[in-house]
Amino acid sequence: STCAGNLVPENAGDRDLTGEADKVNLAEESLLNKMIRHALVRNRNQVEVLQADPTSPLYSVKTFEELRLKPELLEGVYKMGFNRPSKIQECALPMMLAQPPQNLIAQAQSGTGKTAAFSLAMLSHVNPANKWTQCLCVSPTYELALQIGKVIEQMGKFCPDVKVQYAVRGNRLQRGVQLQDHIAIGTPGTLLDWCTKYKHIDPKKITMFVLDEADVMIATQGHQDQSLRIYRQLTKDCQMLLFSATFEDSVWRFAERVVPDPNIIKLKREEETLDNIKQFYVACKDKEAKFTALCDLYGCLTIAQAMIFCHTRKMASWLVDQLYREGHQVAVLSGQLTVEQRAAVIERFRNGKEKVLVTTNVCSRGIDVEQVSLVVNFDLPVDLEGNADSETYLHRIGRTGRFGRQGFAVNMVDSKHNRKIRKLDTQNLEEME
Ligand code: ADP
Repeated sequence: STCAGNLVPENAGDRDLTGEADKVNLAEESLLNKMIRHALVRNRNQVEVLQADPTSPLYSVKTFEELRLKPELLEGVYKMGFNRPSKIQECALPMMLAQPPQNLIAQAQSGTGKTAAFSLAMLSHVNPANKWTQCLCVSPTYELALQIGKVIEQMGKFCPDVKVQYAVRGNRLQRGVQLQDHIAIGTPGTLLDWCTKYKHIDPKKITMFVLDEADVMIATQGHQDQSLRIYRQLTKDCQMLLFSATFEDSVWRFAERVVPDPNIIKLKREEETLDNIKQFYVACKDKEAKFTALCDLYGCLTIAQAMIFCHTRKMASWLVDQLYREGHQVAVLSGQLTVEQRAAVIERFRNGKEKVLVTTNVCSRGIDVEQVSLVVNFDLPVDLEGNADSETYLHRIGRTGRFGRQGFAVNMVDSKHNRKIRKLDTQNLEEME
């Protein structure tokens, strides 16, 4: 049974809220995920589709051949190792390639094939004979724009006539130069400048507009407004495509403003289940006692691979020091590392170079390392107010026991607070009065 109830870890008040480096932002998280992802994430849920015109038949494809792509593009897709469309690609690709063009809003967690889908759509859409920019792709950061560009360049490897340009800071064109590249990928501010101030791009000639990571975009000051200003320069016939990993109301309101008459595709996140995870707790009076308990367990940790979660960066570095002192080799994921360094740490851990990874929650949100079979909550997760955060708890331990394998979670529970959890006899509620 779970013991994430009303526990408050020992150091709840000691959270390092001022540590800027600990605040891993959404865009970085997304970038990190892209850097470490090697394959599609598994999702057994059904795709939900809402068509702009509910009377038209719904097309979905099970193969890339059915899309009747240019042979050189199909070759690029296969060269990337894609054998068949992912779940959302099955529905999204025919919509994006349809004639007349259709608008699309698609929501699915990261790793489900959205980037690959719109990259394919853009490559298929452009007419290389026309020497002007035809597709705009807006991305929240420079680094994410480059990641998208990499996918397009890989997929378009056998389409040498199709050219891509990056509208990002530092990439300056001469004033008055008209861009001849078919696809322009960039951040909202620079793309807006290229369309309006510098006139490198004629927005009236854009026939496909892609907004990626809309949730990250609107979380960034100014991006929403800049995207809307680009949008207003486009013609009514321009095909609008918007992608997001999450869908809060704010994202939805934004999506409805920039995507008229949309088809909507949604893929719900796969629920994390605890069916095959054995959960334990160890009562400890302080961090030293937790450390002693951890050392007793250490042999078990290294049989497979383990992740140890601490609440603060300070606690994580204390723990790592102690482990080093005992002669243990561990990997550390900390907010002070750059995204590249974090990706490298995860890669080493994934390759089994280290058996144990110590991390704080902010650093490891969203990352998947499949072979972890044991999770240790050195501190139980709490929210900003210091209340038990069961969602994070579930997500943390949900990473063990994936794909039906047995997993273990060990919770280091502060005995001072453990008193708060009491067994309740529902047959005898007198106790509650
Ligand atoms: P998202 O944009 O939703 O995060 P991506 O398009 O980046 O997802 O895809 C996630 C991973 O899956 C990438 O490594 C990508 O190369 C791979 N991928 C995408 N589509 C397919 C496919 N149809 N078959 C196999 N792998 C795919």
